[in-house]
Amino acid sequence: MATVFEMIINGDIPSTRLYEDDECIVILDINPVQKGHALVISRKCYPTFTDVPMETLSHMMEIARKVDMKQREALHAEGTNIMINNSPASGQEVPHLHIHVIPRYAGDGKTPAMSKGTYGEGEAAEYGKLLHL
Ligand code: AMP
Repeated sequence: MATVFEMIINGDIPSTRLYEDDECIVILDINPVQKGHALVISRKCYPTFTDVPMETLSHMMEIARKVDMKQREALHAEGTNIMINNSPASGQEVPHLHIHVIPRYAGDGKTPAMSKGTYGEGEAAEYGKLLHL
């Protein structure tokens, strides 16, 4: 079954399109964290960050940076959150790779929900070993 983003790309459902090229499109998120919240979406449906070819991902990041600059210029955004929810366990609702670019303002109280914790004694070193690249 086609993802909602494939339907948007095919023109089957409407969207507010900000940009498009051969690799990706940029639309406004229908439920913005802040007005102007944009999604950079791969034209081809790659479910996750791990599935997308590096060249496409690099290109999408380049476009995300342009969106960031535009939000700063046109909306006077003071910062942005640039995020990928990667697989359902992370909160990804649409299994079609997309980068969120969310305009942010000092004190806007919109920090994307992340409950931060702490490491116990020696745990950071353990995780450091597990994740060492
Ligand atoms: P994620 O949770 O990272 O998969 O994000 C999916 C995003 O797509 C959510 O922020 C939704 O608000 C957004 N979304 C879902 N349907 C539409 C639509 N028809 N047009 C624009 N954005 C949408």
